[in-house]
Amino acid sequence: MEKAFAQWPRSLWADNSLKWDFPEIELSNSFDVVIVGAGYSGLWTAHHLLNFNPSLSVAILDARQPGFGASGRNGGWCSAFSPMSLEAVASQSDRQGAIELQNALVASVDEIGSYVANSGIDCGWHKGGTLSFASSQLQLQRIKETIEMSRAFGYDDSFMTYLTSDQAENRVRIRGSHGASYSPHCAALHPAQLIDGLVNQLLTRNVQFFGSSQVTDINPHQILANTSHGTISIDTKWIVRATEGFTARMKQYRRDVAPLYSYMIATEPLSDSQWRDIGWTNRETVSDGRNLVIYVQRTSDGRIAYGGRGAPYKFASRIGSNFDNNPKIHSLIEKSMREMFPSIDDVAVTHRWGGALGVHRDWFASAKVDHTTHIASLGGYVGDGVAFSYVAAREVARNIVGEGQHERPLPIVNHVSPRWEPEPFRYVGINSILRLTERADETERLTGRKNRFVNWLLGRLIP
Ligand SMILES: Cc1cc2nc3c(=O)[nH]c(=O)nc-3n(C[C@H](O)[C@H](O)[C@H](O)COP(=O)(O)OP(=O)(O)OC[C@H]3O[C@@H](n4cnc5c(N)ncnc54)[C@H](O)[C@@H]3O)c2cc1C
Repeated sequence: MEKAFAQWPRSLWADNSLKWDFPEIELSNSFDVVIVGAGYSGLWTAHHLLNFNPSLSVAILDARQPGFGASGRNGGWCSAFSPMSLEAVASQSDRQGAIELQNALVASVDEIGSYVANSGIDCGWHKGGTLSFASSQLQLQRIKETIEMSRAFGYDDSFMTYLTSDQAENRVRIRGSHGASYSPHCAALHPAQLIDGLVNQLLTRNVQFFGSSQVTDINPHQILANTSHGTISIDTKWIVRATEGFTARMKQYRRDVAPLYSYMIATEPLSDSQWRDIGWTNRETVSDGRNLVIYVQRTSDGRIAYGGRGAPYKFASRIGSNFDNNPKIHSLIEKSMREMFPSIDDVAVTHRWGGALGVHRDWFASAKVDHTTHIASLGGYVGDGVAFSYVAAREVARNIVGEGQHERPLPIVNHVSPRWEPEPFRYVGINSILRLTERADETERLTGRKNRFVNWLLGRLIP
């Protein structure tokens, strides 16, 4: 087993979940569909495949165990929003395509909510919506522009609305709020308990799980996996690659997906009086209008879980447990949390962790199915894969089974992103974007004005 996979992440969520210990795959196995990767993408693909055709034999393989990747470590936002703005999707397809994808994402939050409720999955699910605060006039302008963009696509107040600073404070009291946008289309959950619930449900549907089986090669109808007994070759009709941030570890996909690290902290449970100071009774997920993304939730056991992106990209798309802790980034995240919620100054941070998310060169997610090779893949959700993976997995499953086809496919179906540049250009390019984003926020904070040049450059670099 590779050293990089040697440690289990120390996330808050892993305290009381993700205790799976599935055996390695064996030579004699053969299946209709083998899914590589037991995160949400892989698990939802199995779920949808069996909904379309319950007689399929499906296996899910993981280099470690279910939930080892981003799905077991994320911020627990099940959100109808993604970094692919309506405009960005429309520019890759058309206005109608953007609306259909957005509507599918909106519906997915309720579909996942119903599934969780009907299956009795206890994952702290609460659909309180999402607030994006403005902590400066410039952020307020950016938030209003986002609302206006949704209006241009025909969405009204029930999709996203503007809250004055008083209205926003009535929901959550943060320092220096100038107002916020609010949308009901987001739920907070315990991400790893959702993984556990999904695995349990799939076991009842005869899906076979294998752990400690790292796939090294994917060829039509055949995968090669490293196990403690050596390299095993598995025959299958279909292969679904659901490896997201880890994809670049397979030589053949080295330039397909860049892994970017996102980091989180969680506090001890707050006291009732601390919660009275902050409000936040509806457990909305919280972010703000800065360029570098932060994401916050009030957990079902009364903690604050606070995350931030922007950590440097590692040369040659390296990924490993040694990167799960980043004291510098963790302390910046903690500082940012204490600035946002000054009343929790004495509350201890009990957990710090990180994980890799997956980014395509054009920051556009995809659900690809090749009927010639019988190889499918899905991912590239950047930091918004909890709900998005459900939608992408359904597209992959319906294309494999050939049932329930949309009259026109969603814009992510068979979307081909350009490959990332070879190193060292990839390293220089991605880290330049991250530093420029940081610079843009710094200028805004110090001067209250946009750094026009940096914003122009970012507009060119991030589609
Ligand atoms: C810290 C953090 C916070 C985030 N917060 C949010 C959030 O609040 N909301 C949101 O929507 N999204 C969030 N995201 C993103 C979201 O978690 C991901 O988009 C989503 O989990 C991706 O799921 P996945 O199944 O595609 O990939 P993963 O969950 O990464 O699963 C991939 C799996 O494949 C396995 N694997 C990889 N390579 C191989 C191989 N060669 N052979 C066998 N197995 C392999 C891995 O072990 C892993 O288990 C966050 C991500 C991170 C890292």
